[in-house]
Amino acid sequence: MLRDSFGRVATDLRVSLTDKCNLRCSYCMPPEGLDWLPNAQLLTADEVVRLVTIGVERLGITEVRYTGGEPLLRRELTDIVARTTALRPRPQVSLTTNGIGLARTAGALAAAGLDRVNVSLDTLDRDTFKRLAHRDRLPDVLDGLAAAHHAGLRPVKVNAVLMRDVNRHEAVPLLRWCLERGYELRFIEQMPLDAQHGWSRDDMVTADEILELLSGSFDLTPDDAEERGSAPAERFLVDGGPARVGVIGSVTRPFCAACDRVRLTADGQIRNCLFAREESDLKSALRAGAGDDELAERWVAAVAGKRAGHGIDDPSFLQPARPMSAIGG
Ligand code: SAM
Repeated sequence: MLRDSFGRVATDLRVSLTDKCNLRCSYCMPPEGLDWLPNAQLLTADEVVRLVTIGVERLGITEVRYTGGEPLLRRELTDIVARTTALRPRPQVSLTTNGIGLARTAGALAAAGLDRVNVSLDTLDRDTFKRLAHRDRLPDVLDGLAAAHHAGLRPVKVNAVLMRDVNRHEAVPLLRWCLERGYELRFIEQMPLDAQHGWSRDDMVTADEILELLSGSFDLTPDDAEERGSAPAERFLVDGGPARVGVIGSVTRPFCAACDRVRLTADGQIRNCLFAREESDLKSALRAGAGDDELAERWVAAVAGKRAGHGIDDPSFLQPARPMSAIGG
């Protein structure tokens, strides 16, 4: 098992398949993009599946989420998903995506066994989308969401990051729009993970503020906290339920004590936290010919050193060198 020194057990693996993205969301990367990892440094599909297989078959991973960058940019995604859902014990397999291209691929992904998708959608206004993401792709995202719902990848979850002076005023319309379509909306506090280091605590729209905004229009009652477990989102029944909304207070309401996540970057590094400053290099060992036993041992050792918390509130906090797109969100 992947147990750390505080007794937490990692069972939820987030795998970044690429650091590249076709959007340029301002809380993530600059308009000109980033220096992408060279292809030779990316894990191949076979390497990804080999490491995921070790995680599932030997180390107790029960959930695998593919992310990025934008995972739909990986041509082999459907094949990777099919090979993951064929593992035993079968893990839950999900995808975090910006939805661009999902209209074409949702059916094939569902047929490959994909269980769920989280689609990022911060605004319903085309001009705001262009301003925020520096690309005019809102219609593609909306088509992708509808296709995922149609393909049975339900409940479709929607992730939204609110920013002051950009889309804060859309909290209520976004929730109403998601409720009408049966999508489950989760608001995520903006985290200091942008490549430009432009995050500021004062500008961040906090979980408290989001709940206050929503409470003006909806009756929110906390969902059973017992069921929250390691889930990052605090969930609320909307107007008595069954519809729900989630708020992920990564910064102001950290959930590190219940964290069960471990991350594999697109270039084969194990990270214990989005905010970790250490990584453990599985790719070099794998490419040097390490067997499954050795890779599993290295992985166990990497997780053993997981820190107690992300430390954003600590005066000594330093933003990680890698931006979100390179870690895998
Ligand atoms: N491209 C995919 C997508 O858009 O969902 C997957 C990767 S993206 C990094 C994963 C999630 O991280 C998205 O929901 C995005 O909104 C969120 N995200 C990116 N940067 C963030 C930040 N600085 N703070 C909070 N969430 C962030």
